[in-house]
Amino acid sequence: MSAAHDTRKLEKSDTIEEALKDAHIPSLMMVLVHLTGDTSHLTPDVKPVYDFWGDGQGGIAPEKQAKIRAAVKDAFDAFLDGKKLPPPPSDATMRKMMDFISGAEIPERYVPFLKEELGISVSDTREPKWDTPKLKDIAHKMKVIVIGSGMSGILTGIRLQQAGVPFEIIEKNSDVGGTWFENAYPGCRVDNPNHLYSFSFEPNHEWPQHFSTQDVLLSYFRRTADKYGLRKHIRFETEVKEAAFDEKSGLWNVRLRGKNGKEETIAANAVISAVGQLNQPKIPDIKGRDSFKGVAFHTARWRHDVDLRGKRVAVVGTGATAFQVIPAIADQVKELLVFQRSAPWLGPTPDYHKDVSPGKKWLLEHLPFYDKWYRFYLFWTMTDGILEMVRVDPTWNDMSKSVSPANDMLREMLTEKIKEQAPNRPDLLEKVIPNYPFGGKRSVRDNGVYIAALAKPTTQLVTAGIREITPKGIVTDDGKEHDVDVIIWGTGFYASDFLRTFRIVGKNGVELHDRWKGDARAYLGMTIPDFPNFFCIYGPNTNIVVNGSIIFFSEASVRYIVNCLKLLAETGKKTMEVKSDVHDAFNTKVDEANRLMAWGQEGFTSWYKNQTGRVSQNWPYLLVDYWERTVAPDPKDFVLN
Ligand code: NAP
Repeated sequence: MSAAHDTRKLEKSDTIEEALKDAHIPSLMMVLVHLTGDTSHLTPDVKPVYDFWGDGQGGIAPEKQAKIRAAVKDAFDAFLDGKKLPPPPSDATMRKMMDFISGAEIPERYVPFLKEELGISVSDTREPKWDTPKLKDIAHKMKVIVIGSGMSGILTGIRLQQAGVPFEIIEKNSDVGGTWFENAYPGCRVDNPNHLYSFSFEPNHEWPQHFSTQDVLLSYFRRTADKYGLRKHIRFETEVKEAAFDEKSGLWNVRLRGKNGKEETIAANAVISAVGQLNQPKIPDIKGRDSFKGVAFHTARWRHDVDLRGKRVAVVGTGATAFQVIPAIADQVKELLVFQRSAPWLGPTPDYHKDVSPGKKWLLEHLPFYDKWYRFYLFWTMTDGILEMVRVDPTWNDMSKSVSPANDMLREMLTEKIKEQAPNRPDLLEKVIPNYPFGGKRSVRDNGVYIAALAKPTTQLVTAGIREITPKGIVTDDGKEHDVDVIIWGTGFYASDFLRTFRIVGKNGVELHDRWKGDARAYLGMTIPDFPNFFCIYGPNTNIVVNGSIIFFSEASVRYIVNCLKLLAETGKKTMEVKSDVHDAFNTKVDEANRLMAWGQEGFTSWYKNQTGRVSQNWPYLLVDYWERTVAPDPKDFVLN
């Protein structure tokens, strides 16, 4: 139980009664077991059902909910009065609780993984432990360069610090935050539930919304960097230009360029890239692109100095970014022209813009164990169940619209939800119902504001292709000229050009991009033959499409990488390099698996595929697969020198 949960200091009050009105009932039922030791209320008649887009109360009847609230109130009052907590639940009880809150029997294989994620008795289950004098001594003598101080770079800094390994973080921007620093476009917000989209060891009970806005996310990452004293380890406004491995010394030489243009080379035992996949803005090379005389900018370089009020504004693209921009600016502009090449799938999310109620915040902060189980619930409901719905059934006859019976059913359900939003606009519906399978591209969270913005009389949804940009605007393939004052490029990023901003030279002078030739691959997304002690976070094939939060992936990757360094320290070796056959076999399997996912099908574009058409971005397996494979490196996978 965290210090925040030392609720005995609180005066007994009616606060809990009020707060319980807003409670997530399945989480409350878990709390009740911890407070009373009694599991008798976990009976089949109140077993929550997994309700994908429901109210999260698992279909538990209102009268049962009232009983549970009352029981929790009594147990909490007794706790405040000084009643001792019963012994922690046994493993068997914990298992029963996990099954119960998930509304289904959790496969045995998930149990250790979920117990770690839940972290009931330990606040940070993934903290590295380099606790022998020998390890501590070797740790002190290491030096690691981390590139980037976004979510993953901050996490890496925290873990290296905990391990006692000296490190420096090189950051091109003037502050931490990465994508949350750079993407400040109107409407920008996270679309993973915030109580899940946060470090497992740094819960925030004060998220203002279930899906908070960019400024809030940026503050969270800034605060975390401050709390762990990371800033003194970060060189801001400094770019890595090259990292080159010196075979003689077994060290990496990392060439930096500071804000004054001054260059410096520093040596390190290991380099960890935490540069992300989605931060090199891509503006398509359309004929006449630079001839436009109005204002044009990319969403990740938002021009806050440009007043859109009263203007004719074009937004090109309808991906996850444009999807958020469009409703945020539709009311301001005189006319909005949205240029859509393909429509996004919309996943109904009623609380997408909703505030977290004061009661919910109170429970997260004060009611013992509530925050842990609420996060667990979010984690589980967003974990691997839905992956099955985007997996190809090879016997399914038409892959162009859906990839399996389950995927087809989902298509039907989502289509109905879209149709409900504009019943009187068949012209619009014809355009906004996607013509590719769900899971083929990134889907978005919908609470109705997007279709409402498109349906406004001042908005036009243009689906003809873009032929040319002229000084006055955009000309489409049908020859129509669309004069505009502003063009906003919501056209995404050079996602599959991994690590494109710097040279990486490994053994025998091989340069990584020359090796990859536009088709990036790595072992577990992290390590590459001929590049000893060079590691990537959010590297090739570590993106997830429908299951889970990318923070989970970063936590798993960083643990693996820090354990690689630990392996070096334990064995007294200087370098480790993944074996080619291990790397190649892994990639062959990943490719086979990706071809059996919705996003691996042909006939539509997405940033998940690279220029060769291979899916270089996505992890096609379960989260538990990644977790199992990244707890620690298998020494047999590497050559240690
Ligand atoms: P994106 O998903 O790559 O979308 C780019 C859009 O531009 C697509 O609609 C694409 O159409 C269109 N496009 C590209 N080239 C075009 C051209 N020549 N003519 C017309 N249209 C063109 O980029 P994004 O929207 O910036 O999102 C990238 C990723 O960032 C997301 O998938 C997500 O992972 C992340 N993101 C997350 C959040 C969040 O968590 N809240 C928010 C925003 C972004 P096609 O689809 O036809 O290619």
